[in-house]
Amino acid sequence: MIDYHIHTTRCGHAEGKMSEYVRQALQLSFLEIGFADHLPLLTKRDPSLTMSEEQLGEYIQAIEWLKEQFPSINIRAGIEADYFPGLEKETASLLSSYDFDYVIGSVHFIDGWGFDDSRYIEGYKSWNIYDLYAKYFELVASAASTGLFDIIGHLDLIKKYNFRPEEDITPLVKKTLKAIKDAGVCIEINTAGLRKPVGEIYPSIEILRLCHKEGVPITLGSDAHSPEHVGMDFDLAIIGAKQAGYSEIAMFKQRQRNFIKLR
Ligand code: ZN
Ligand code: FE
Ligand code: FE
Ligand code: ZN
Repeated sequence: MIDYHIHTTRCGHAEGKMSEYVRQALQLSFLEIGFADHLPLLTKRDPSLTMSEEQLGEYIQAIEWLKEQFPSINIRAGIEADYFPGLEKETASLLSSYDFDYVIGSVHFIDGWGFDDSRYIEGYKSWNIYDLYAKYFELVASAASTGLFDIIGHLDLIKKYNFRPEEDITPLVKKTLKAIKDAGVCIEINTAGLRKPVGEIYPSIEILRLCHKEGVPITLGSDAHSPEHVGMDFDLAIIGAKQAGYSEIAMFKQRQRNFIKLR
């Protein structure tokens, strides 16, 4: 198995040594893991959300060192980058300074509002929830279309605090999935949602079925912010993937995509 979404203490809201994350993966007999810590934000500096630009080089070096220390598991250098419309060039330039194996593109902000941050949860009050979902899924579609990202992170993150529209969101999701498919991007099954108020994997099984129908590949991530999160609830993720029709998962090395069979 693989886990492609692992954070480090550099982001300011994770705990444990990087080697502890690797040891947890070894204990689970995983084939491959990838660190995907938060890329520095281009809009503001917030040490409780991401590392600084000065730390990026050291982050990559730490992964290189772990590769030498733990030759029995493949370790990839990924990154989780925010999508900010209008800052595509700046994002591309920051990403190009390092040789990442893959880039996870995530939408955590809507017009500067960190909607997945509990500190700003009152922001939901000023939205019609359906309009909010529409805006979110439009942003995800744009993110995919930039070509900056290999993987779309936590596809339906907007459900995190369990604010749900009464209307059917299927048309919104389908439109976004078409954009993701056209861009040749894959999505992740992200088990962190199970540890959040929504108590559900990202994306939902309904959306995962739509992903399969559209021909969008998947990869797997725990969004670990603590060593014990590595591989957490992957049994459920794999059951979901199979139920949705998937028989393989995507892996990346130097931004080249390959597939392994889902067992
Ligand atoms: Zn985080
Ligand atoms: Fe994220
Ligand atoms: Fe993450
Ligand atoms: Zn995340």
